[in-house]
Amino acid sequence: MHITDRFDSGNIEVLDAADPSRIRLEIRKDNGSDFYQWFHFRVTGALGAPLTMAIENAGGAAYLEGWPGYRACASYDRETWFRIDTSYENGVLTLHHTPECDTVWFAYFAPYSMERHQDLLAWAQLHSAVDLEVIGETLDGQTMDCLTVGTPGTGKRTVWVTARQHPGETMAEWWMEGFLARLLDDEDPVARTLREKAVFHIVPNMNPDGSKRGHLRTNARGVNLNREWDKASLENSPEVFHVLERMRETGIDLALDVHGDEALPYNFIAGGEGAPNFDARGQELLDGYKTALKTASPDFQTGHGYAVDAPGSANLAICTNYLANEFRCLAMTLEMPFKDNADLPDPVHGWSPERCRKLGAANLDAMLAVMGRLR
Ligand code: ZN
Repeated sequence: MHITDRFDSGNIEVLDAADPSRIRLEIRKDNGSDFYQWFHFRVTGALGAPLTMAIENAGGAAYLEGWPGYRACASYDRETWFRIDTSYENGVLTLHHTPECDTVWFAYFAPYSMERHQDLLAWAQLHSAVDLEVIGETLDGQTMDCLTVGTPGTGKRTVWVTARQHPGETMAEWWMEGFLARLLDDEDPVARTLREKAVFHIVPNMNPDGSKRGHLRTNARGVNLNREWDKASLENSPEVFHVLERMRETGIDLALDVHGDEALPYNFIAGGEGAPNFDARGQELLDGYKTALKTASPDFQTGHGYAVDAPGSANLAICTNYLANEFRCLAMTLEMPFKDNADLPDPVHGWSPERCRKLGAANLDAMLAVMGRLR
């Protein structure tokens, strides 16, 4: 039996793999930080052997509420990811699985590789409405890719959509696939109308370095990008620095930042209610968007989510709060579950890439619903 994490977004340390029924593992910390929770590894040569894999440092991970009720993801073909029997006790997360193939991959959530990111860009650029622009480089020298859909024109609104500031939240880039596929569908009347009314700037991956390195939450230097918006710098957070620079050139009417939440088994939106410049109009737009998204997708709900910040108390280092304040625009954080949507559970796959895509597509309906009220 052989265990490896030496590939794009891999993360595991093998402590002891002599006995398949007592495999001892640990998750590596994000480089330069104490965050960890993302794991992704491959096991070969255990066909038919009941594997018991204990992640012994799970009790020190970033979000302990993420483990109860969580089931790990596994795949034989790296396309379909199914959930496996998983338990959490005394700080140890234990994965149980008997492989039906020679090789099986395990991950915290269905991985989204940087190779697939390149494929997404390649597919998107073939559409005549799309411009692919490199707006800067990361600390590891990867490109910060921005897709612009449509050309600016009189009366057009400006929409920014960003995903994966936290690289372990791969559901955010699966969401992007569905969002882009519908936005670029020339036979979809919602997409066509939106493209007439707005220009879209889309960053499918805000954190390429963390993605490739197999991080949960930070960039190459261990910096949490979603705590950098009021102090972005080329030294610590070039990813945010470059995007913000571009945002200042274009302005923003609507900003959507896509994430995943370790603990809550729901899809929900957090707004910029606590930003000093947030006002009644902002509230009306936020409520309008959430209501429209709930109508478009029963996978979205408004009953569960984060506590709303008191007026003026928002942390402006966070993207949504910063943009709501600086641009006085409708700014939102969309959170999807690592576990499942408890209102519509899927016992086999849990929350999955395909469900992310469908939620991404549904967001176009919500955007159209508020588009006329944006300015
Ligand atoms: Zn996040």
